[in-house]
Amino acid sequence: MNPKLKAVERDPAEAVCSAVVKAGTGWLHEVRAGQILRIVDLCGNQSADVLLYNAHDTAERYNVNNTIAAQRSTLIELGTELRSNDDNVMFTVVADTCGEHDTLGSGCSAEGNAIRYTDRTRFMHSCRDTFVRHFSDMPGMSKRDQTCNLNFFTKVQLGTTGSLEFVDGISGPGKYVDLEAKMDVLVLLSNCAQLNNPCNDYNPTPVQMLIWDAEKG
Ligand SMILES: [Zn+2]
Repeated sequence: MNPKLKAVERDPAEAVCSAVVKAGTGWLHEVRAGQILRIVDLCGNQSADVLLYNAHDTAERYNVNNTIAAQRSTLIELGTELRSNDDNVMFTVVADTCGEHDTLGSGCSAEGNAIRYTDRTRFMHSCRDTFVRHFSDMPGMSKRDQTCNLNFFTKVQLGTTGSLEFVDGISGPGKYVDLEAKMDVLVLLSNCAQLNNPCNDYNPTPVQMLIWDAEKG
């Protein structure tokens, strides 16, 4: 048994929130302290890009540096504490049937597409477009509030020379990751529509977002 994998039975009928999010669209929702957020890769090999903000003070948000430094690993996996710029724990990974997730590759953008995949791809819809669209629903937020993100179900290889490369993922249909909230968090998802690298297996598909209340007892 792979020690990085852990499945937990939870009944979707008991979830307090359930949403299927198509590729190229987003989802903004508050997850309260103690609740469990599950992200399901419904069809497999889909990249779910996520930004996190303290629901009561959006100046506090997910921070890659503090997360990596605290666990001394670049991978997001079972047991990882997702930390903020104030070094508080926002979520803990409490179940995972995929095994590892990326937080180095950032979200796709018009500029990144143009540089990596020629100017022909500049106008393809990107995760940054989705994030910016949702900031209009978040008072006081604008594109300057877009910081480094998480890429669930995405595999980015860190080479021995420091290079980064998007590679075929290890996810599959129905695989999921469960995050337990340690504070009230605004979760902003961009379900990636990228067609120019293998992060979505060149076939963007929907993901499901489920929330359960804190377990009693
Ligand atoms: Zn993307």
